[in-house]
Amino acid sequence: MVTPPEISVAARSKYEPVIGLEVHVQLLTVTKIFCSCSARFGATPNTHVCPVCLGHPGALPVLNRKAVEFAVLAAMALNCQVNRTSVFARKNYFYPDLPKGYQISQYDKPLAEFGAIHIASASGPKKIGITRLHLEEDAGKSLHEGFPDSSEKTAIDLNRSGVPLIEIVSEPEIGSPDEAYEYLTRMKEIILYTGVSDCNMEEGSLRCDANVSVRTRGETQFGTKTEIKNVNSFRFIRDALEYEIGRQIGVLESGGKITQETRLYNSAEGKTYSMRSKEEAHDYRYFPEPDLLPLVVDEKWREEIRRSLPELPEARRKRMVADYAITDYDADVLTASRTLADEFELAAKAAKSPKRVANLVQSELMGRLKAKNLEIADSPISMKGVALSADLVEAGTISGKMLKDLYDLSFERNQDFPAVYEQEKPQQITDTAAIEKIIDGIITANPKQVGQYRAGKKTVIGFFVGQVMKASKGHANPQIVNALLVKKLEP
Ligand SMILES: [Zn+2]
Repeated sequence: MVTPPEISVAARSKYEPVIGLEVHVQLLTVTKIFCSCSARFGATPNTHVCPVCLGHPGALPVLNRKAVEFAVLAAMALNCQVNRTSVFARKNYFYPDLPKGYQISQYDKPLAEFGAIHIASASGPKKIGITRLHLEEDAGKSLHEGFPDSSEKTAIDLNRSGVPLIEIVSEPEIGSPDEAYEYLTRMKEIILYTGVSDCNMEEGSLRCDANVSVRTRGETQFGTKTEIKNVNSFRFIRDALEYEIGRQIGVLESGGKITQETRLYNSAEGKTYSMRSKEEAHDYRYFPEPDLLPLVVDEKWREEIRRSLPELPEARRKRMVADYAITDYDADVLTASRTLADEFELAAKAAKSPKRVANLVQSELMGRLKAKNLEIADSPISMKGVALSADLVEAGTISGKMLKDLYDLSFERNQDFPAVYEQEKPQQITDTAAIEKIIDGIITANPKQVGQYRAGKKTVIGFFVGQVMKASKGHANPQIVNALLVKKLEP
């Protein structure tokens, strides 16, 4: 991260930042919000278009029911109050990728309001209010590169024009760049759990604008804010805010004034730059969209949608800790995605020791998946396999070392654990005489450690177990090894 402008610690501590975030999330509907064109990302430019999303005069929008259901589901997951009646409005502005000359959005009567996200902050748990969540259509996309004449011309792709979005506006209650990062992380996690968006920032299905101002501590009035637009990762948003807060304090400390303006973040330099000032700012002249009826989500429909609300991450973590006797940390890792949590629970239910499954998934499975850059859904080892392997270790049939080897083989051969186990059936040495022979050799070779053990340093037994397991290439039955060692090491 680039260091923000040089501000003394004393100057910095005089001020507190006030941050509000506006997040746009693309909904995963099959078709667009007001026409039946495909909403899929990545098609050849201008192939998913029709008179409605091209903004031809006289073409009439028809609201996509699924988009409403997804938006309501997201609103419920974010603890919002869903309004029975909301109204679509025209937001008028000119832009080359907005052929109608206006965007259909919602203004004074949004779909949902008064939500909240719970985050962890430096001073403990904190609740960040959500002012509103509304539905709107996306605009097209201006392409400034990728064509032979890109240096002179801008190309327009209208495939994205009319793709459904929700805009989620937070209260100005975020007190630091770290809190902003945490808020966004929690929001993305919740939205992903609902399944209404893939929240893919690279493809633009989650975009964030940040409003930030500073004021002297204890002051209740807001300072003049600037808006940072189109930052494409949570980390960059944190860095951009850090820089911008430093910049604003620097301006105020040197007797200057903050100009209300929109700024762009340059991630390569770690700095924000002025894009347009308030004088040029838009006046959108909102008015109710005459081609659409008010949107009514009655109680019956709301309840129908509520039934498809999944268990959300926070609640799920609490339940998993209670159900499987795992730690808070385990639950955090294992609920990172809904699929991972689902998969873990399948294995945890099938195995004798859920805690062992939690350990195996985190230490043996996720490490190997990461090394091969695979998602949990593409794992060669199924959760049935994880459950079986956990039970085999639990029963002492295979050692931890054998398990590691078998997992390696599963990944090498792209075969599930039960199949690899059947083929390999690693033979554990349970023959006491054979193990005794190994132990005798090791005791003879390590008189110093034997002395330590006999002098009362019982932890040295770990050393001997390790040596025996090594000598047996991990095949000696650990329980037998332990028992025999204790017997043999006694003076
Ligand atoms: Zn269309």
